[in-house]
Amino acid sequence: MAKVGFIGLGTMGFPMARNLLRGGNEMRVYDINPKVVEQLAGEGALAATSPAEAAEGVEVLITMLPNAPHVRTALFGENGAAAALDRKALYIDMSTIHPQESDSIAEAMKDLGIRTLDAPVGRTSLHAEQGKLLIMVGAEIDDLERARPLLDLMGDTIIHCGPRGAGARIKVVNNFMSTALAVLSGEALTLAEAVGLDIDTTIKVLNNTPAGQGHFSTTFAGKVLAGDLTPGFMVDLAHKDLGLGLDVAAAMNVPVPVAAAARETYSLARRKGLGRKDWTVVYEMMRAKA
Ligand code: NAD
Repeated sequence: MAKVGFIGLGTMGFPMARNLLRGGNEMRVYDINPKVVEQLAGEGALAATSPAEAAEGVEVLITMLPNAPHVRTALFGENGAAAALDRKALYIDMSTIHPQESDSIAEAMKDLGIRTLDAPVGRTSLHAEQGKLLIMVGAEIDDLERARPLLDLMGDTIIHCGPRGAGARIKVVNNFMSTALAVLSGEALTLAEAVGLDIDTTIKVLNNTPAGQGHFSTTFAGKVLAGDLTPGFMVDLAHKDLGLGLDVAAAMNVPVPVAAAARETYSLARRKGLGRKDWTVVYEMMRAKA
């Protein structure tokens, strides 16, 4: 059981703070929306009227706010939490913010003698309610171990991503991939519908191939990540198949910008003489370019 300050009781923060409260921690909570503060106070938390009050006397301070400016305001603005925080306290930012902002905020906290973890979360508000978030932690190992009992109440998958700053960075990479894939997924289903397919059947098929299973654990694992580029499925064929999809989409006037851009990557691989390599070679080609 710890004394915990929690700032930001929104869609994610509210259920996370409630799980910490239910786990037996002494909670001081603050949000600019007094309604949610009162609601959690009704369950036994102390209702703070400023970020500073939420930070008073706590061992761990957590923020779960929309973006970096909100975090800065809560920490360093009027009645900010940072000045009120005990120097021995641990500060955990669980918001999704730009990694450079995360670094600069951590530096400012370090100047005050306060140790910081970045611990953004993956999954949804439902997982937040169930205490089943995935938490991506950037921290020194000692700091992570101090924070772990609290993190365990909010998530069921706690991954140490590296030193401080690594959590913020992996969160960006994760969302980069999932948000781009959401667009490609939408393109695929729109194309399916345009050619008269049943959506449920389409999803059933795609969920049983790398399309739906994801490339890391299927194609990448045994090939490019294992250093084997002998073709399981070669670039020439990937280029041809993506071209078939683009032709069908064009005939049906279905715009598929993400798929169209992807085809050019296979075109480049062919131009570079990689046509007969495994299609996962595109990763190696991009690394070489970067
Ligand atoms: P939200 O907008 O629902 O909640 C943010 C809360 O912060 C609100 O209650 C707001 O009143 C409060 N707030 C804003 N400025 C404040 C300040 N200066 N001081 C105190 N309180 C302040 O957002 P959310 O969905 O809970 O997301 C929080 C963070 O988690 C974001 O960075 C988001 O990108 C990330 N995230 C969200 C989800 C999701 O599914 N919602 C999933 C993973 C990560």
